[in-house]
Amino acid sequence: MKEVRVRFPPSPTGYLHIGGARTALYNWLFAKKHGGKLVLRIEDTDAERSTQESIEGILDSLKWLGLDWDEGPYFQTDFAEDHIKAANRLIETGHAYKCFCTKEELDAKREAALAAKKDIKYDGTCRNLTPEQIAEKESQNIPYVVRFKTPKKDGVVIYDDKVLGKISRAYKDIEDFVIVRSNGKPLYLLCNVVDDIRDRISHIIRGQDHMSNTTRQVLLYQALGAEVPIFAHMPLTLDLKKAKISKRSHGEIVAVHFYRNHGFLPWALCNFLVQLGWSTSDNREFFSNEELIQAFSLERINKANSIFNYRKGDPKFFTDPKAINMNGHYLRTMPIEEIGELVKKEFIEEGIWDDAYDHDRKEWYLKTLDMIRDRFFTLKDFASQGRAFFADDFDIDPKALKKNLRKHPDLKEWLPQLADRFEALADFTKDEAERVAREFAEEMNVKPGIPINGSRAVITGQIKGPSMFEVFEIIGKERVVARLRDAPKYFNE
Ligand code: GLU
Repeated sequence: MKEVRVRFPPSPTGYLHIGGARTALYNWLFAKKHGGKLVLRIEDTDAERSTQESIEGILDSLKWLGLDWDEGPYFQTDFAEDHIKAANRLIETGHAYKCFCTKEELDAKREAALAAKKDIKYDGTCRNLTPEQIAEKESQNIPYVVRFKTPKKDGVVIYDDKVLGKISRAYKDIEDFVIVRSNGKPLYLLCNVVDDIRDRISHIIRGQDHMSNTTRQVLLYQALGAEVPIFAHMPLTLDLKKAKISKRSHGEIVAVHFYRNHGFLPWALCNFLVQLGWSTSDNREFFSNEELIQAFSLERINKANSIFNYRKGDPKFFTDPKAINMNGHYLRTMPIEEIGELVKKEFIEEGIWDDAYDHDRKEWYLKTLDMIRDRFFTLKDFASQGRAFFADDFDIDPKALKKNLRKHPDLKEWLPQLADRFEALADFTKDEAERVAREFAEEMNVKPGIPINGSRAVITGQIKGPSMFEVFEIIGKERVVARLRDAPKYFNE
């Protein structure tokens, strides 16, 4: 294979959404796999809709995802001269022509063709103007657009798509499309090709929504005497109603920053995204960075559209459950030191970080994170569900309050009694705590689960969690005793 050079060319008109991130990821994986280069190009030609804020947001999201690039960011507007030169060259070589038809003329022709149920494509009026006619119109300053001269032969444009196989379109179905507007500005379709030629792009991996451009772009490559790159059109991602996912109809849930703000691990999101349109033959779900690079291939990109399984309004699943589960998997299996660094940021934000966690309490900090992460799905869970391990101002889950505490009114007295017994222990280990708690339950003639789950409610605020004996030990005698003694207040509220 020749040198692999791919590109990610976002238009900076909003945030990076998960569809764009998936495109970037596929290109990144392909470049990494083949020792190639990924070029980042900001397609800011649409000056009215492009913003600096969007550029910064896109770069930020790419960096967060870990999708680094080898060249760029280049800015399309910096190459405006190249685009104009290319258009002029197409005119000189007879592949394009100036079209002086006015909007009114074109509208009238279109309407007539529609009424007669005839072809509404441009009829080629200016295709064969003589040099004298052109000079005459130019001397009168009549505005013109530049149109590509689609071959009039019976042939077809053809390219071999890496995902979809042979794609062809008859010349007769392709209008003489505009490549330069009457204000002298080249159209995106042309700029995109000129930039890809200059950047020596070997493979274009992009969404199927761009396919309507591709056949026309193949004509442009040929007319500019450039080698046509290899195309791979990725399937689209649809919602459960089979509509394309979009910022407009789905809001922030499609934004990469949404996942960042909801405590996602970047690699977990990449793993989720890669599988929206690609899979291995054994449908493997979890990959390390290196494994995914090795496993990825254009040939295994699906032809069919993928589904983003998200039901609006389901509070349990604030996004596709597969994404949440995937995040949970990486959260539980990642080296705990890495989790420690990520959670540190969360804790600082929440005001519950203690510098000792970086020094003499580091071991305790990491051990605690490791113990509680088993039930967690996002980084946010550490400071919410796990708050009681690190701070005294935590809330008690109303379900825990109802089911594990108030349902057993005796606990109002029992838990402070248990506190006294714990306090008397010289060595407050999990084994000792277990012995004392079980003995206590036996004396009171109840199942051990009753004082234990009651303790869990007041000590961790949760209805479920890791083994309570381990929790006693990790939270420590002083705080366990204080919280158990505080139990009666929850019966008075
Ligand atoms: N700027 C285009 C977009 O954001 C990219 C088109 C392409 O990949 O060729 O959709």
